[in-house]
Amino acid sequence: MSEQQSEVTILPRDQHQISRKQIDEDTLKVLYRLHRNGQLAYLVGGSVRDLLLGRQPKDFDVGTDATPAKVRRLFRNCFLVGRRFRLAHIRFGKNKLIEVATFRRHPSEDELPDDPDEHFHFVQNVFGTPRDDAFRRDFTINALFYNIADFSIIDHVGGLKDLADKVIRVIGDPLVRFEEDPVRMLRALEFAARLDFSLDPEILSGIEAKKELIATAAPARIREEIMELYRHGVAGPVLRQCRELGMLPHLLAGYPGTDESIALIAKIDQRTKDGGKIEESFAIAALYLRLFMDSCPLTRETHITEALHKANEIIIPHCRYFSIAQGIRHSARELLVGCFRLARGRGFKGERRFLQHPLTPQSLELFRLWAEVHTELAPQVEQWQQAIKAPAAPPAGKKRRPRRRRPRKPQQSQSRGQQPH
Ligand code: ATP
Ligand code: MG
Repeated sequence: MSEQQSEVTILPRDQHQISRKQIDEDTLKVLYRLHRNGQLAYLVGGSVRDLLLGRQPKDFDVGTDATPAKVRRLFRNCFLVGRRFRLAHIRFGKNKLIEVATFRRHPSEDELPDDPDEHFHFVQNVFGTPRDDAFRRDFTINALFYNIADFSIIDHVGGLKDLADKVIRVIGDPLVRFEEDPVRMLRALEFAARLDFSLDPEILSGIEAKKELIATAAPARIREEIMELYRHGVAGPVLRQCRELGMLPHLLAGYPGTDESIALIAKIDQRTKDGGKIEESFAIAALYLRLFMDSCPLTRETHITEALHKANEIIIPHCRYFSIAQGIRHSARELLVGCFRLARGRGFKGERRFLQHPLTPQSLELFRLWAEVHTELAPQVEQWQQAIKAPAAPPAGKKRRPRRRRPRKPQQSQSRGQQPH
């Protein structure tokens, strides 16, 4: 649908289900204050979509025709952020922020700065009408507005119909919009999986045509979107689809992915949906566990230092590419090596210290999920779970070694616990 052809649809209050009771109190205060000062004030983006779907929005974003400077004048608790992409953040209490963005539009070709590196930021910062603002958004279902002036829903892009039909559709031509910002390809897959919507066929053919471009997106954005996939419990299906569409190696710097890795990630998704927390080190270790295990044969001859070395070799390129902090990289590596120890079985050197290591429960958690994919490992999980519960017990069938009989001093065991596996 082109911007010229489409008409605006306005759903009055009595024709939709969104009630002010569902909207966060402080966001309502912001909307009302803008409105009382003669500004347009809309709830925008994901929150309107989620409310219409009967879901709890993650956050409530506000759109307005007031400039950032004007917003700042209206709110004492407001500060402007972003050097180039100016947004107003209004602070409530210690930890709560409400984001207020001035409506923006796509600049025309001849308005663009000469330096192509400047385009992305420039494109995001030209103020426009609410209609312009709807059209610069990614998908029709993400471009609906809730107007505080009369509690109506404003739809410039056909988003209400797509919500009813449960379909993700790009606003405008997917080829153009994916070229403009390749991360939209990944977001399309993410929303389809999260909301259980289908993808407009043009999205699939668009990804087919533009998939390589995902490699040109800023690594920090990809890193964030990948963690979003994990947090929403859709990393498995989305990465599987990326793989099927041939986008996965472009997305994760050469990462091939395997059925088993993706099956493991889907297990993690299930755990997240059941309320499990997801840490980035865990997410990275899961991505690379299959590769790592392939490179470390589970024989007596494989020494732990060798496993450490392999783990580093495998995750360092990923961590460098995505500028992942040393601490996270270290934990990811420890989780991989922990899984190696767990897969190898009990009775090896250093077992006692391993059982006391603070990361071992997490390694075992990852290994437990891995054993759901590789069911032959299930008995190991059971054994190790018991060993962790009673770390002082000698391994089954093994003779206690004299060293193990030494009484432990509490402070000594604590400092040992902090050492690597
Ligand atoms: P959620 O926060 O639940 O993941 P959301 O729709 O709020 O979903 P955000 O990433 O928070 O998604 O973005 C907020 C809004 O900004 C989106 O609803 C969309 O309208 C717009 N948006 C985000 N990313 C893009 C993009 N890459 N291109 C165009 N518009 C975008
Ligand atoms: Mg959001």
